Amino acid sequence: MTASARLLIVGPQGSGKGTQGVRIAESFGIPVVSTGDIFRANIKEGTELGQQVTAILDAGDLVPDELTSAIVRDRLSQDDAAAGFLLDGYPRNTHQVEHLDEFLAGRGESLDAVILLDVPREESISRLALRATEQGRTDDTPEAIAHRLDIYEHETAPILSVYGPRGIVDTIDGVGTLDEITERIFAALDARGLRVAV
Ligand code: AMP
Repeated sequence: MTASARLLIVGPQGSGKGTQGVRIAESFGIPVVSTGDIFRANIKEGTELGQQVTAILDAGDLVPDELTSAIVRDRLSQDDAAAGFLLDGYPRNTHQVEHLDEFLAGRGESLDAVILLDVPREESISRLALRATEQGRTDDTPEAIAHRLDIYEHETAPILSVYGPRGIVDTIDGVGTLDEITERIFAALDARGLRVAV
């Protein structure tokens, strides 16, 4: 069953937001829209976009806002995102929040909830180091990891000051087993009346 929900999952790299995002989206029957996945798929396929962003991803820098927002608008305009979606990795700074707000307002929509996965920096670093050996991601070098965590703290965390006053942020303790964390997220969404229809 598909339940309408427009969600955003936020957290530092290594917080487990990718894994949790997939679980939540599957339960709600909504697509995950992950900008990182979109960029990586384009790099793998050698598309023009992929060639444009390879060096940026390897350095752990952010792809320009206009380009990223245009890609997200395209993706959210596809039929499967009409009833809801879960954004992972976008918006990543306050400019992108403005772009998303404008796009959603144009459709008479807004985000229902922002799930913030709270994980200490040391925990993120050790999880990322593990992922680097398991998945061999080229942007998982120690330097790139530290750089991306700095960007998260300086550019991405401030988006919570925009969403916080809207009363849509659910801060979830991101330390625990995968199942425990999933349960915490479902409980928070449930408290907002966001439930999986059965
Ligand atoms: P992620 O898989 O979300 O960690 O993203 C991997 C990389 O893709 C990031 O380090 C950035 O280089 C790029 N990226 C992903 N999402 C965005 C975004 N919203 N804005 C700019 N760059 C992004």
